[in-house]
Amino acid sequence: MKIKDILGQGKPTLSFEVFPPKTEDKYESVEKAAVESAGLSPAFMSVTYGAGGGTSRYTVDIASMLSNTYQVPALAHLTCVSSTKSQVHQVLEELKERNLENVLALRGDIPKDGVVETDYRYASQLIYEIKQTGDFCVGAACYPEGHVESVNKTADIGYLKEKVEAGCDFVTTQMFFDNNILYNYLYRIRERGITVPVVAGIMPVTNVAQIKRICQMSGTYLPARFKAILDRFGDNPAAMKQAGIAYATEQIIDLIANGVNGIHVYSMNKPDVAKRIMDSLSEIL
Ligand code: FAD
Repeated sequence: MKIKDILGQGKPTLSFEVFPPKTEDKYESVEKAAVESAGLSPAFMSVTYGAGGGTSRYTVDIASMLSNTYQVPALAHLTCVSSTKSQVHQVLEELKERNLENVLALRGDIPKDGVVETDYRYASQLIYEIKQTGDFCVGAACYPEGHVESVNKTADIGYLKEKVEAGCDFVTTQMFFDNNILYNYLYRIRERGITVPVVAGIMPVTNVAQIKRICQMSGTYLPARFKAILDRFGDNPAAMKQAGIAYATEQIIDLIANGVNGIHVYSMNKPDVAKRIMDSLSEIL
């Protein structure tokens, strides 16, 4: 099923994320986590893609397993920062062969050494090309706090509009920890005529090192309320996990109460975390 149709049903949806292993020896454990998460019957599951292309085979394999064996609609991520057109088309052919119809089209992060051998500069070019290649439902990334490389938020929203004009059917946000940031962003993008569904990306933070790394990379704002949780429980993994899940769940409830129906949980191969969130929302979803 196409994700735009799932999102178009006008009711709350919860989706989860899997990231494929970098090496084959970890494949089985990731597969197990993906299957367990699929057992919770999320609206769909997304499978990330290594920007270097190293995990591309696993992305397609896991997405295919979720969709074809477990009947959970899969969203295969695809990056273009280090790819040639022929590499992109090879992945698209594989997706078609396995009846996978949903792609999250991304540029990917520029490698640390800055070396890029690519036929693409921005995700909008990839989106356009995917749309020309087949009947895919295409999603894209968006950044309520602005993308780290962008000059300012207004410019960033202008580039988001280019992605929508290139054919993207929905967008998923970067994680955020203050819902007011999303509400403000929604207002601004709707004002600019961007009307595609927006899926809110929520990260249940279960350890402090992880969130510090992410914030360094993306400049994500941490509200005082959230910082207090990190300060108080950061040294106690079990307490941090419980508090992180509770914070994410509260964010989700507030989003749904305010009419944001599409919620994507960055569950990071942790089916137990996904389950605890799903269980807490049983009467809401
Ligand atoms: P783009 O939309 O191309 O934007 C990149 C930068 O260029 C932005 O600063 C933008 O403002 C600017 N820009 C865009 N168009 C123009 C233009 N015409 N002229 C000038 N500037 C322009 N990474 C992975 O490697 N694998 C994944 O699976 C993955 N999944 C993700 C899922 C989500 C929901 C999100 C939010 C991010 C994900 N990422 C993933 C990270 C993503 O690849 C990075 O954030 C990357 O740096 C930007 O990708 P993009 O598709 O948003 O790029």
